[in-house]
Amino acid sequence: MRSVMIDTERLLRSIRDLAALGQDQAGGNTRLAYTPPDTEARCWLLDQLAHSGFSVMVDALGDIFALEPGALPDASPLLSGSHIDTVPQGGKYDGALGVLVALEAIRSIMQADPYAGQRHPIALLVTGTEESSRFNLSCMASRLLTGDLDPAVIDSACDADGVTIREALAGAGLPVERLAELRRTPGWFREFIEVHIDQSFDLERAGVPLGVVTGIAAPVRLRVVLEGLAEHSGATPMPPRRDALAGAAEVILAVEHAARSRAERGAVGTVGVINAEPGSINTIPGRVTLGVDLRAAEAALLAELEQEVTQAVYEVASRRALTASIETLSRAVPVTIPEERLTRLEAACEATGAGSIRLVSRAAHDTMYLSQHGPVAMLFVRNPAGISHNPAEAARDEDIVLSARVLAACLLDSAHRP
Ligand SMILES: [Zn+2]
Repeated sequence: MRSVMIDTERLLRSIRDLAALGQDQAGGNTRLAYTPPDTEARCWLLDQLAHSGFSVMVDALGDIFALEPGALPDASPLLSGSHIDTVPQGGKYDGALGVLVALEAIRSIMQADPYAGQRHPIALLVTGTEESSRFNLSCMASRLLTGDLDPAVIDSACDADGVTIREALAGAGLPVERLAELRRTPGWFREFIEVHIDQSFDLERAGVPLGVVTGIAAPVRLRVVLEGLAEHSGATPMPPRRDALAGAAEVILAVEHAARSRAERGAVGTVGVINAEPGSINTIPGRVTLGVDLRAAEAALLAELEQEVTQAVYEVASRRALTASIETLSRAVPVTIPEERLTRLEAACEATGAGSIRLVSRAAHDTMYLSQHGPVAMLFVRNPAGISHNPAEAARDEDIVLSARVLAACLLDSAHRP
């Protein structure tokens, strides 16, 4: 695999420059989607792209498609990128790293092997918003691009101040009149690769700079309602009680057990919401609502987890004479990255002299949704702080440079494949 020279200085400077936009009092970055700091960052990036000669298209969601010079606008390019919006008091790498590493990789390829119709073109993709912080919709842009999300949310969902998505887009100067043209059809890109900061200590502990992502865990979210009978806590003897909260306690432990017994395979399960009614100290709880979040990076494992939890809910309910209902609030599909993609990324790591391990992404990314429209891959960069969505998130300069070299080698290799 051919290696590509990276302009290290230019790459590291771009990371510093973007991190200077949307700085907050906590020492982090706050660029909530479509707020002035986010718009400022988008303008800064558009400026960089214009200087390097990219053909740039910005859609109604603020998604940036930047094709390398010389390529035809209707070509199905190789894509790489991420997002530049952040959570409140986020860090300078989540999202931004994947955008700037891709930008540098493409700029370096443009110099080493200019597009002349002899290979596939390469483009940068920056999604308009990925973080769910403002509109409570994770990966909103990539889900609208791929048709995973109903475009009606643009008028129905709003932020904490009651601003709808449409109003926010218009406020950011984006072409809302072109919202109807958002949705893409599968095949609009040949391949997508996202570089991202590791969001845990996985790589730091393993002592390697890069991680090849084998799968992306997806959540299934359930609302479980148990109904018994609310009656006097003193007058009712124990045997005939139909205590919905005591039943819910068993369900919570069943969720924990189902995930713990599959922990080695990366399953996790959480009950993060509990609401007992009527919520009176002298009344037996008659109705309890639980919010359950189950995740795994393999569809079969996630199905197993969900099945065990579902069985536990009905078993507890029948044993305790409760009625149970389970409603699916959301269901995303885990992504398994094919072996062929993994070995190609590993070959690029090897050619670059970068150590790597395979790992799973427990957090969701745009890559998860873009996988519905074409082949995808993800590369993680070691994070010595082991944390993200926090001003402390970190990456070593030499690891960042390695990731850009690996990405460039990989993109160039793919660009010359038939
Ligand atoms: Zn991210």
